[in-house]
Amino acid sequence: MKGYWKKLLKINLTHKKIETEKIPKEVITKYLGAKGIGAYYFMKDLPQGIDPFSPENRIILATGPFQGTDILSTGRFATITKSPLTGIFLDTYCGGMFGHSLKRCGFDLVIIEGRAEKPVYISITNEMAQIKDATNLWGKTTAEAEKYIKSQEGKETKVVSIGIAGENRVLFSCLISEKRRASGRGGAGAVFGSKNLKAIAVNGTMNISVHDPQKIKELNQKATQAVKQMHKNKVPFYFYGTSWAIEYAHKTDRLPTLNFKKGEWEHYKGLNGDTIYRENKIIQNPCCPCPIACGGIISEGKDRPEYETLAMLGANCGLKNYQAVVEANELCNLYGLDTISTGNVIAFVMECAEKGIIKEEIKFGDEKTLLSLIEEIALGKGIGAQLGLGTKRLSKIWGNDCSS
Ligand code: SF4
Repeated sequence: MKGYWKKLLKINLTHKKIETEKIPKEVITKYLGAKGIGAYYFMKDLPQGIDPFSPENRIILATGPFQGTDILSTGRFATITKSPLTGIFLDTYCGGMFGHSLKRCGFDLVIIEGRAEKPVYISITNEMAQIKDATNLWGKTTAEAEKYIKSQEGKETKVVSIGIAGENRVLFSCLISEKRRASGRGGAGAVFGSKNLKAIAVNGTMNISVHDPQKIKELNQKATQAVKQMHKNKVPFYFYGTSWAIEYAHKTDRLPTLNFKKGEWEHYKGLNGDTIYRENKIIQNPCCPCPIACGGIISEGKDRPEYETLAMLGANCGLKNYQAVVEANELCNLYGLDTISTGNVIAFVMECAEKGIIKEEIKFGDEKTLLSLIEEIALGKGIGAQLGLGTKRLSKIWGNDCSS
């Protein structure tokens, strides 16, 4: 069977044990891709009712059959664990080259269990893995951790790491790769933090065989032609990436605005993709070989935020322009915070303050407060320690009907 190594890597951080295991063909044919096979190994013999922060919880990094091949637009790998935010199964996906490089190490899947005594990172290369000391990286941002690990492991190495938010077990902390790609949802960063796992580095160079390489070439050419047509037809997604959707969401009354009080935002133009496009020299930044290249870098190497980030940290928090969202997005990436849940909880706090449920002066549209709240959440300082629990828990703590 092509597209798989039929092999997984298993690492127990408590016992510093590293082993490999064959993946039976029946498991692959039954569960097929990253999510299916990952879910199978996550659930297999997992004790019921475990605490997401207990050593028994597993982190699975899973690739699909296209990763490590030349098929275009196939960057996403899955991270699967029990979510500390929801208490249930979590699958969260990240683009970039990490998944490709992991697959080229000769493994379809990595299972991590246990808890290291002190901070570590895992280094995976062709058919090999090592657990390495990361004490000097604890307290560092995701960008600093990635830079250091690349200096040790080689510049071709791909890294996912947690920031200070994950170390502090913020319930919606995430994994960041290549400074800007996120496995954003559900608190996978906090599970890494609970295991004293700062990062995973991969550097694979093995070639996985495919059934019909010629057909892949033909289909890649076809896809590239179709994207060129998008350009000719001036399809907004091609130029603006997902940020085009701000206008669409506003016009269809579904743009989260002022803590979901409204679906329209009269200042949406300040956040919309065409405004960002007009005011910046955007460099298209694909997450992997992909003719669409939906990512964009704007001035000073900063990211053009995705739709979800512009919506949740922008309109939902009452912001009127994209510049503040760009800064908030950068901070979230450095600290390793999910921009969606971060925007959600900050907008909730803004409404609580507006209604007098809390005494803090936190107003919708206040850019400075938004940035300082992000920092407080990551560091667990001041009101940020409570915000790091997420909206649902916070509404129960604060009571006063704020859950409605
Ligand atoms: S660049 Fe965008 S469209 Fe292309 S694979 Fe990555 S996320 Fe998908």
